[in-house]
Amino acid sequence: MFESDIANVRDDGSAVAVAYDAKNRLLAIGLYDRGSRLRFRVLSREPCTVDGAELRGRVSGAAAKREEWFDAGTTGFRVVNGAGDRLPGVVIDRYGETAVLKLYSGAWKPWLQDLVDGCAQMAGVERVVLRLSRALAATGEIELVSGGVVSGTVLPAHSSFHENGVCFEVDPLRGQKTGFFLDQRENRARIESLVRESGARSVLNVFSYTGGFSLFAARGGASRVVSVDASRPAIDALQRNIHLNMGPGNDASMIAECEFENVCSDAFVAMRSMRESGRVFDVVIVDPPSMASRADQRDQALRAYGRLATLAARLVAPEGTLVLASCTARVRAEDFETVCVRGAERADRRLVVTARYGHAVDHPTAFDDAQYLKCLFASTATFS
Ligand code: SAH
Repeated sequence: MFESDIANVRDDGSAVAVAYDAKNRLLAIGLYDRGSRLRFRVLSREPCTVDGAELRGRVSGAAAKREEWFDAGTTGFRVVNGAGDRLPGVVIDRYGETAVLKLYSGAWKPWLQDLVDGCAQMAGVERVVLRLSRALAATGEIELVSGGVVSGTVLPAHSSFHENGVCFEVDPLRGQKTGFFLDQRENRARIESLVRESGARSVLNVFSYTGGFSLFAARGGASRVVSVDASRPAIDALQRNIHLNMGPGNDASMIAECEFENVCSDAFVAMRSMRESGRVFDVVIVDPPSMASRADQRDQALRAYGRLATLAARLVAPEGTLVLASCTARVRAEDFETVCVRGAERADRRLVVTARYGHAVDHPTAFDDAQYLKCLFASTATFS
């Protein structure tokens, strides 16, 4: 419920808020967030008791579901995805023994210890790291402890986890999001299968971060993987991730045999320069950061997606595959696809979308708007 949906507020200082309609019928029980336009976060639409036990139970219930979804090959996953796991404004990600609790709303302050306890009680968790969204950190409502760990042992100098058997280092304190883009897990696995099944040799991974798609492409059998990211720490971590997977096990031979080229550069600049050098790839993946946090930035975001599609389409070999992703919630799937198709047309390529994917299973959503991730797999053909 947004600020504009609420007519009257009676503040009795309670940590739980109750919303009624104009006829005084119960609408919802939730949390009242004075600091956000999203003023009321729904915890239940039915009468219920909201207390520490209930909230800890919601964390453990969400964790129990994940136990069914992941085996020992995947130790990095999302345990709580906000409203999709009945904890709006709360994200909990797990990287092996480390749980990262990230809050997006100051309304959770009275319940912080219960959330931390819920994390600490998960089997195998040795420490809980607390992070705040940028907007929440700016309010100063919740203080962070130095070192970030709010429960358990200090963070080791290097943390790592596995995703479908591939090992990644992660920085739960400073890394983007909570350290890794877990939402793309299934799409990374799809890239591995695509490379293996199509026999693709060369792969370009633009906006690579720490090399998620790159390593799966290599394990699928690519002989050359070029990764581009503007962040130096991300490229350095990618370099280390390659080495982490060259040890025994892990289908090491595929990764060890692949030639990696890791480029720290602006994506637009790097793609133009590759075009000028006449380079092409069997598979090109473009997974840029979110381009619009406000509605008025949507058109600008769509133009950027179009430009990226043009640049990327020029780098796809004949019969190759283009994979284009958008994590901008403000951009609708249909509009994204339209600008991608038109962008490719400007490169004289006909884009035929062969598959449309979203985020991984551990990112359940309570409402359609929360389905932000769009990932298109497309074949490309020249117009002739
Ligand atoms: N595909 C990645 C996630 C990509 S997130 C994965 O599977 O893990 C988006 C990435 O884009 C971030 O790593 C960020 O550093 C990078 N980035 C942002 N702006 C950029 C730019 N202009 N050029 C290149 N990289 C950029």
